[in-house]
Amino acid sequence: MNQHERTAYFNFLETAVRQTDPEIATALNNERHRENEGLELIASENFVSPAVLAAMGSVMTNKYAEGYPAKRYYGGCEFVDVAEELARTRAKQLFGADHVNVQPHSGAQANMSVYLATCQPGDTILGLDLSHGGHLTHGHPLNYSGKTFKVVPYLVRPDTETIDYDALRELTRTHRPRLIVCGASAYPRTIDFELIAKIAHESGAMVMADIAHIAGMVAVGMHPSPVPHCEFVTTTTHKTLRGPRGGMVMCKQEFAEALDKAVFPGVQGGPLMHVIAAKAVAFAEALSPAYRDYIAKVLENARMLCGELQFLGWRMVSGGTDTHLMLINLGSDGISGKKGEDRLGKAGITVNKNTVPFDTRKPYIGSGIRIGTPAVTTRGMGLNEMKVIASFIDRVLKSEDEAVWARVKAEVEEMTKAFPLYGQA
Ligand SMILES: *Cc1c(COP(=O)(O)O)cnc(C)c1O
Repeated sequence: MNQHERTAYFNFLETAVRQTDPEIATALNNERHRENEGLELIASENFVSPAVLAAMGSVMTNKYAEGYPAKRYYGGCEFVDVAEELARTRAKQLFGADHVNVQPHSGAQANMSVYLATCQPGDTILGLDLSHGGHLTHGHPLNYSGKTFKVVPYLVRPDTETIDYDALRELTRTHRPRLIVCGASAYPRTIDFELIAKIAHESGAMVMADIAHIAGMVAVGMHPSPVPHCEFVTTTTHKTLRGPRGGMVMCKQEFAEALDKAVFPGVQGGPLMHVIAAKAVAFAEALSPAYRDYIAKVLENARMLCGELQFLGWRMVSGGTDTHLMLINLGSDGISGKKGEDRLGKAGITVNKNTVPFDTRKPYIGSGIRIGTPAVTTRGMGLNEMKVIASFIDRVLKSEDEAVWARVKAEVEEMTKAFPLYGQA
């Protein structure tokens, strides 16, 4: 689709909504402008292609299809079966997995289904602590995972701020968990899945690797894959994978039946067939050489942005990045993550506050800012833009002056004009 066709397509969609619901049409239009005119640096976000968007907004939203292809509890599933089969086949090809379930509505549901397939309430699980980069569903006390299981958190080392694999081995030997959960939401370094699987298997534990953030790099071989080593691998489909908002689980053949039963009827009812169709489209895109180039650029951009921020004097958690994301540690005496997030927001730069390892502030305030390059790279931004973005961030975080933030916002808008998204208004 060229830019003109995209504009016509998005105007058509908005007109269709406006005739029924002008309030939502306005919200949609405003969101499109916000995405177009700002710098999206939230590490878990991306911009899907018009093809993925169109499949999501399709007639398959109308269909009930409880069950699995060729084994449904409803009639009329012959075409949604095609969509789910394609999604499964492509996902298996992309990751080299024995078995895949593409029905989880989100990453959280994907994880829940693995817990249901492997553990009983009260079993012990190990998960990376939230403030050290882990995810709520990896055993946080407020999450169902923390409420259901006996959770032993593991941490990063204070010196390197990388996972303390020796301590993980000790904890595993002491607590004999049923399951070790690995993978992270705010961890900028390569994770040694092979070593974690070895540690688990020595003590008779299973492993669930949650690659929600790094799935894109794993798919193209730019991060070591957990698939050969771990019993279960879960992911979202909307982060670096650049598909629709959703989840997916891969597993070894011996767990296929248990997993499928855990997803449905264990955790979910009817699958979102329009989203599954969009997952199939996104997986086809991810199998293309263009996607490999995209991921290579995401990583180059992250290294450049991180290096520039360090050059400007910012302290980065673990001293750098191997992935698409980085964390600025603003320090316990610096401005808080919350303040930094608000201030960058006023300059048209969207990030999220984050805790840093051994943070002294509460999670809602935080001492860190998480930054990622997947979304801006999708727009076509490259190394030159990363240098400029680093200087934007530096100017905004160092200044108390609203006029400086406003000036950066104008420069951000100017920069984004050269990288139009989803058609101009
Ligand atoms: C984003 C994320 C999830 C959850 O995904 P949702 O789709 O928001 O439920 C799970 N695990 C990790 C590591 C994540 O980063």
